[in-house]
Amino acid sequence: MFGLIGHLTSLEHAQSVARELGYPEYADQGLEFWCSAPPQIVDRIKVTSATGQQIEGLYVESCFLPEMLAGSKIKTAIRKILNAMALAQKNDVDITALGGFSSIIFENFNLSQMSSVRNIQLEFNRFTTGNTHTAYIICRQIEEASRKFGIDLAKATVTVCGATGDIGSAVCRWLDARTNIKELLLVARNRERLQELQAQLGRGKVLEIDEALPQSDIIVWVASMAKGMAIDPATLKHPCILIDGGYPKNMSTLVQEEGIHVIDGGIVEHSLDIDWKIMKIVNMTAPARQLFACFAEAMLLEFEGWHTNFSWGRNQISIENMDKIGEVSIKHGFRPLIN
Ligand code: NDP
Repeated sequence: MFGLIGHLTSLEHAQSVARELGYPEYADQGLEFWCSAPPQIVDRIKVTSATGQQIEGLYVESCFLPEMLAGSKIKTAIRKILNAMALAQKNDVDITALGGFSSIIFENFNLSQMSSVRNIQLEFNRFTTGNTHTAYIICRQIEEASRKFGIDLAKATVTVCGATGDIGSAVCRWLDARTNIKELLLVARNRERLQELQAQLGRGKVLEIDEALPQSDIIVWVASMAKGMAIDPATLKHPCILIDGGYPKNMSTLVQEEGIHVIDGGIVEHSLDIDWKIMKIVNMTAPARQLFACFAEAMLLEFEGWHTNFSWGRNQISIENMDKIGEVSIKHGFRPLIN
């Protein structure tokens, strides 16, 4: 069995979901309420592969909200993720994806040193960040969107915002090895880490975000921001492709302008309907078929019987593993979403 650990994007989102699911008494509660809520299994899932194989899984809502990080409730955030992992393991899940901020909290706060949760000893090889599949899907979105919108990669300047992150660094390595893009711009806050990445790649320009965006034909957003930032489309090139892989979204503005093409980054569409409710709650446009690529990674590992932490640690995603997960992604009927 596979598992998915997820969370909602904001307190406001959590309140509206509670109202929609028929819990008005929760809908009026503030952050403190969500801080004390335990993890819950909120969905039981059946997925059929394009090969006909069927698997079953569980969705665990961790009750973590990004406001907990912004409000320095670090201990609460840590407890949320560890408790959700313990709940998945207690329910005999073989491989569980740590969605959205779950894996970021795991890495940033060194949770591998905290493997005991009450009477449960967490077995980390039963968990995956899902980031290899996410990076693979974002790279396929770059390829397919550039073809669709007539941007020649050989003449293109590509910015990766969040370049030093787990997903961002994998995307940079792939862009360097597998494409002939003209220029790669590297954006994040910590300059030292950006310079290390630049040295590893042997290319790329380190720039501030305001300098990078107006020069870019393609912008890949994979920064771990608790809240999206506003973009003024007038400052962007026309045409320009924006691939927003953040959860919550890195861009707070809904850009709808001629020549600006916004893609939901790191999202896959399955070829068959999935028997679940949960993707409606996170506002997918086709909730029976669309999902986060990191969740699809847990499904792929279950389909293939690879019960191992396929994506783990920071900045270790190899192009070979992106190829490997990409092959089984196609085999089981997933494809990158190009909206
Ligand atoms: P990491 O924590 O590994 O990396 C985050 C990157 O963002 C770092 O380069 C960090 O560098 C940078 N960053 C953080 N804040 C800012 C900021 N304000 N401005 C510019 N750069 C910033 O994260 P992951 O690679 O694991 O995840 C990246 C994003 O992808 C997250 O939003 C996550 O929720 C989302 N995600 C989506 C998935 C999907 O299936 N679609 C799956 C998994 C994750 P620095 O700190 O130096 O700024």
